[in-house]
Order: sequence, then structure tokens, then C-alpha cells
Amino acid sequence: MKVKIPKEIRLLTHTYKIRSSSKETRASGAMALSRHLHQDIIIDKATMPRSEYEQAFFHEVLHVIERHFSMNFTDEDIDRLAEGLVAILFDCLGIELDWSQIKEE
Ligand SMILES: [Zn+2]
Repeated sequence: MKVKIPKEIRLLTHTYKIRSSSKETRASGAMALSRHLHQDIIIDKATMPRSEYEQAFFHEVLHVIERHFSMNFTDEDIDRLAEGLVAILFDCLGIELDWSQIKEE
């Protein structure tokens, strides 16, 4: 089953834009970013392999959940949770992500 990644995701009252910008991720030195002040999640579709930006996307989504549910994980815990989530969604449920709405800026 294909699931289209929307341009925005909403968690509780918070709406985060989903963007792709290799320029911004590189400038920050990160593979992906979640910025609570700007309410966006930025991945790098342009230069990263698909498996990496998909894992990075879930990593950032988990940071958003962590923030708004007042949890406190290490970044390594977030990575492990993201890998676990990806394994369940992709390998067990057969979900594929459709990134066609998220254009590199
Ligand atoms: Zn992180």
C-alpha cells in the first residue's frame, strides 16, 4: 500500500510543514531537522538515499511527538524507535511512502 506524505502533518494543535532542502540540512550539519519554533520537518531528498531520508523523517516525527508529549529520549533512542517503526510499517505491513508532494526547495 502506498501512503502519500502530505505537505503538513498535525499533532494535537501543532501543524508542521514537511519540506526537503539539502541546503538547510547541510547548513545545520544534520541529516534532517525538526524545528519546533518554525513548525517544520526538513529532510534531504536531493542527496540522501531514500532509506536514509525515510528513516530520518520518522526520526524527526518522533522528536515532534517527544516534544509535545513531554517525553525525553536520547537521540540514539529516537534512532532505534525510528528504525523499529520503519521495520513494522515497511517490512511487516508492506507500506511504501509516496514523496511526490514534497519537492526539493
Ligand atoms: Zn535527533
